[in-house]
Order: sequence, then structure tokens, then C-alpha cells
Amino acid sequence: MAFWKPGSKKPEASLPLSAEVDREGPGDSGGRLVVFNRNENLALQAQRERLPIFKTRDAILHLVETRATTVLVGQTGCGKTTQVPQYLVEAGWTAGGRLVACTQPRRVAAMTVASRVADEMGVTLGAEVGYAVRFENVSTPGVTRVRFCTDGVLLRELMEDPLLSRYSVVMVDEAHERSLATDLLLGLLKKVQRRRPDLRIIIASATIQAEEFAAFFDTRHLEPKPASEASSVNAPSREPGIVSVEGRAHTVLIHYLEKPVPDYVKAAVGAAIDVHRAEGPGDVLVFLTGEEEIEAAVSMLQEEAEDNSRRLLGGGAGTNPAGGPERFTVHPLYAGLSPAQQMEAFRPAPRYTRKIVVASNVAETSVTIEGVVYVVDCCFVKQKAYDPTRGMESLLTAEASRASANQRAGRAGRVRPGKAYRLCTEKAFRDLPETAPPEMIRSDLAATVLQLKALGIDNIMNFEWLSPPPAANMIKALELLYALQAIDDDARLTKPLGMHLAELPLEPQLGKALLVSGELGCVEEMLTVSAYLQVQTLWVSPRGRQKRLDECRDRFAVAEGDAVTALNIHTAWCGGRARSFADKNMLSHRALVRASDIRAQLARHVRRVGLVVSSAGKDSAPVRRAMTAGFFANAAALAPHGGGAEGSAFRSVRGGATLFIHPGSVLFRARPAMVVYAAAVRTGREYMRDVTAIDPEWLSELAPHFYAMTQRSGNERPADAAAVF
Ligand code: ADP
Ligand code: MG
Repeated sequence: MAFWKPGSKKPEASLPLSAEVDREGPGDSGGRLVVFNRNENLALQAQRERLPIFKTRDAILHLVETRATTVLVGQTGCGKTTQVPQYLVEAGWTAGGRLVACTQPRRVAAMTVASRVADEMGVTLGAEVGYAVRFENVSTPGVTRVRFCTDGVLLRELMEDPLLSRYSVVMVDEAHERSLATDLLLGLLKKVQRRRPDLRIIIASATIQAEEFAAFFDTRHLEPKPASEASSVNAPSREPGIVSVEGRAHTVLIHYLEKPVPDYVKAAVGAAIDVHRAEGPGDVLVFLTGEEEIEAAVSMLQEEAEDNSRRLLGGGAGTNPAGGPERFTVHPLYAGLSPAQQMEAFRPAPRYTRKIVVASNVAETSVTIEGVVYVVDCCFVKQKAYDPTRGMESLLTAEASRASANQRAGRAGRVRPGKAYRLCTEKAFRDLPETAPPEMIRSDLAATVLQLKALGIDNIMNFEWLSPPPAANMIKALELLYALQAIDDDARLTKPLGMHLAELPLEPQLGKALLVSGELGCVEEMLTVSAYLQVQTLWVSPRGRQKRLDECRDRFAVAEGDAVTALNIHTAWCGGRARSFADKNMLSHRALVRASDIRAQLARHVRRVGLVVSSAGKDSAPVRRAMTAGFFANAAALAPHGGGAEGSAFRSVRGGATLFIHPGSVLFRARPAMVVYAAAVRTGREYMRDVTAIDPEWLSELAPHFYAMTQRSGNERPADAAAVF
């Protein structure tokens, strides 16, 4: 490799764009002499200049200089996320201690992109380039210039610094995804810009929604309200500029199924194995919808990998006709994993080994998993849906949009040409919706409204939304916050409860359950429960071992429900925190580690809000009362008739919806008179997850505003609890 010294003429950008260049990078220096050399990233520099976006560098910088808002559109892989922040640094936007923020809808993206940009800039991650995601901040005050963060983190920063005064430029990346937090952030940034005309906003998006974003930020008709005289000096034009980057990095060949498949998880596993057996070198990225499917697919692939290794050892190898590697490793990648666990999926596979990553859509945008050449896409996605009449948000598996399938396919062409296998027919693909509806209009808005209130925005109805959420959803959110006592009669945030709820990194209902544990004397227990509610797949379930899994579950399961069961597991796990404990009980070691980690973080939060740590010992009632105080709106009573082999039917106390206990709950086969649940999922029927058995009396006691018990002589039944709202 040729070297050049700073100050001398830079060599031509002619190095081959080869994945091998980076494979030999830091972390794989076994045996090589490591010499500090600021130019070790020379190859990266050459790669940077070969990206399509490089041609529009000056145009982008010119617009950022002269316009308050710049909308940047370009195909996935053209260089928006990694290059624009660097251009801004090079052009002086971080001079004088100012920062550039680049927001991502997902934490994995924020972390990995930061790491890539740090590499390209030849700096240590956490120094000039850092990131911040929920529960983790890797940046150095006074040193960090470029900060990648989730949009949720920037929203929280707005609470402390409403004008984002540290930042010269905020780039909102992947805006086309229209996540709840992105939409909220865009609305707030528009407000900030009126007071800080010097703040530059860049909106980056992969699809052609540019006009919509530009129109939203066109504030020529509005009078600015500068916070100070100084900030209006040299104010840029308030007419947004649009730059469009032509060209994508590499082509991706798309394959469709000839016939539809009944079970896409099995089909995805099959497709990954086919690719492994028949295709040349290159890693595989499989997209499924969520944690459970991913863990199931990982188990199946792992069994296959072991069989495969045994075959190879026995000498009975089936040689790959395209010269691909014989062995493969399998890695899950989804939001519920800890950052360290997620990073494992990004680590290059050992030599002569193929890596198969099974991911949810956390890997859909922004991220580049180096080495991925093949993508298998199930073409489904977990989507939030909100029913305002019943005040119920549930997750359901829905068809992916074409935009999102294109993003997924794009992951195969990041470092060289690739192939994508879509598990649907071409015709079915054409019938998919073009884009998914914005999350804002199909979500429970309680957390959003709480956040706006905490930012001092009281007139929520007049807030400028990119897509205004339905009024019914908004009203339901206000009702719930009122019932949680987070807002008062005038819809203002209560102090301290409302404020504390807004600060806690938990959804309001769980936040309330945790905060009341102070009064109920069960803080230790509720910390554990809150942490365990953040991880979904606590149990591993390899194929054909359901019976053993049931036996293991029975060791911890109690009639009080999933929260109390989690307490039992945590207590036993804390005995030694050994992997063998997890294996013996068919618990996921990953999930246990992650839950303990979150628990420690939550403990710091509750100490900060002044909660005195207490424990209820073996008495489960305080914990169940705390759950009721948070999740009273999600109460369901055992239906008098109904149910059968597939579990008992329940009726939601508010709204009267028919609900079932999820097979993953320890109460699946039980028949408690009244329960509260933490989440709902819809797969054919509506299922309750994380279920706690409660005393029906507690509802009127702990949520008097919300429920009024109808007193009927003699036969007072739980189902008679009537919703006030
Ligand atoms: P965009 O945001 O426009 O989708 P990015 O800036 O994320 O594009 O990436 C641009 C290109 O940089 C990718 O196509 C890929 O070639 C390269 N790249 C980005 N991240 C990595 C990485 N972690 N490892 C190797 N190459 C990367
Ligand atoms: Mg990007």
C-alpha cells in the first residue's frame, strides 16, 4: 500500500474498493506490527471520494451555508450518513466548540455509523466522533464534534437545552422512515429554528418525500422570533434547499419466489442455507420481523451449523460449487440485545467462514454490515397499530412496504454488488404498499404528549405536526396521562410526578408503576420487573423441546403472573450469574445479562428522582399493586364463558375487547379473575403479554379516577368494573 505524508501531494484516489482492505483493520492485528500512523485510513479516504455523494459535496455545503434547512435525497449507500457530517466538520461547522448532531431512528445505527465515521476520520470513537443512545453515552464534552444519536436522545436533550445551543447543525437522518420520534423532532426543530435562525437543519431521506419535508420547513411567511439579536445576524434564507444525489454504490440483483410459502421463518432459514451451499463468498443478512422469530431462526440455523461442522469433520463435505466457505456462524441482531451483543453481529467472520446475521429492521436502514452480499427478506414487518376506541396499542405483523424492502435489499450492495432474495412472488411484491403510514398516526401518544408537556408545549392541539395524529388518539393520551396523575385538571404536567415520568426512560405506565413502588415499599422488586419487561425473549425454545421448556418454566412460574415470575428468575440468576444456570433452565443468557444491565441503569434513575430503595421481601402483593397502579388502563377480566384449549378468554375492562393470554405468558393456562397486562400483540387474535394477576378491588382503589365499580348486591363480578372514560 502506498503512503503519503501530510503536506505532500495526496496520491490519486485509485486504490481498489475491496472489502479486504477493511477486514484487516483494527481488531485483527494478530502478529502484525502496529505502528501509529495517522494515514492508516488512506484507503478509507479513497473510498470516500468514490462515493456518489462526493460529487455533490460543494452543492451540499453551499446550501447548508445559505439556507436554514436543506433536504438531502439519495439512494441508500450513496454516502449521506457517513459523509455529510464529515463535510460539515471540514467546512468549519464545528469550529469554536460547536457540535454537529446526526440523528438516527435506531440505536444500532447510531452506534455503528459513529464507529465507521470515527474510523474514516482516523479518531478514537468517543473523542471527536461520539454517539449517544438510551442508557449509553460515548462522547467527551469539549472534544466531541460530531455526535450520532437516536432521535429519542435529542428529544431528551431538548428538555435540558431547549434551543439546542451547543449545535450548529442538526441532521435528521432516515427521515423517510417517519418514526414517531423523528416526526416529533422535526416539529420541535421547526420551533427551535424560529428562535435560532442560525441553526441549520439537514433532513436526509432515501425516498422522494423531499417536497413534503421542504414544504414543512418553508417558513418564509412566518416572522422569526430570535432569542437574541445576535442569532438573527447573517441569518440564512428560510426557503429550504433540496439536493438530490444520483447513483447508488452497487447493484443488487433481486430474486422472487415462484410460489408463496406458508411459513416465512422456515423459508428464510432454508433460503439462508441454500445461499450458503450454493453461493460464493459473502455474508448473509436475513430479515425477520422480531425477537421471537429471530431467536427461533437462529436456533434452527445453529443446529444446522453444528450438523454441518460434524459432516465436515466426518469428511463428508458437500463442496460449494461457487467456491464459498464451508462453515458458517449465526448471529442475531435486534433491539432487545445489549449493545455489546449487537456488535457481535458486526464483527467479521473468521477466515473461510460465512456469517449469517438474522436481524429485525434495526438493520434495515443506515447500518452497513461489512461483508454482507446476500439479503434474505421475509417481506413482513412488526407494526404498531392503535385503536383509540379501546385505547389499545398492539404490535402486529404486517406486510412490509416496498420502500422498506428496497432498503433491506440495499444492505446487500453496500460494499460490492449483491443479491437479495425476497420471500414473496414478484406479483405479491408489486401489490405491497409503497410506503408505511407514519408511526405518529398509529401509535399510543401518551409518551409523546408527556414529552411535549415536559418541553413546555401545552397547546398540543396547535403543535405543527408533519402528519397530525388523529384527535381521538390525542384525547386518549391526555386521558391516560390524567389518570396516571402526570397531568392536572388544566392538562399541565404535575410536579414532581409528571416531571419524573417524563424524565424516566420508560413508557409512562411502566414509569408510574416504578415510581409508586416508593410508597408501596417494593422499589427493588419493581426495578427488576421494569428491567425484565424490556427484554422479550427470556426463554430459549429450540425445536421439539417444548416439554423441557415447560418443565423449566414451571420451576419459576407462579400464579401471580409474569412480573413475579421474573422476580424469581432474577433472584435465582443473581446467585452466581453463570451461563450454566441459564443453559440448565433454558433461559437466554443474553436476555439475563441485558436485564441486569438495564436494572442497574434504572436504579441510577430512581435514585436521582429521590426514591428510597426498599424491598417487599417475599410478599408479592406490593409488586402487583404497583403494576396495577401503572397498568390499570390495561385491565381485563376473565370472561364468564369462553375459552378452551387455546386459553381462556378475557374482556378488557375498558372497551370490552376480547383478549387472550399469550402462550408465552406463565398464566397461559391459568384462569385468574382479573389481570393487568403490559403489552398487546395481534396475531389472528388479540393477546396480552406480561400478565399480572390482580385483586379486582385494587382498580378502584389505585385508579379511582379511571374506574368506578358498579356496586351490585351480592354478585359483584370483576367484569362489572365500568370505564369512566
Ligand atoms: P447512506 O447513508 O447514503 O445510505 P452511508 O453513508 O451509510 O450511505 O454509506 C456509504 C457507503 O460507505 C456504503 O455504501 C459503504 O460502501 C460504505 N460504508 C459505510 N459504512 C461502512 C462500514 N461500516 N464498513 C464498510 N463500508 C462502509
Ligand atoms: Mg444512511
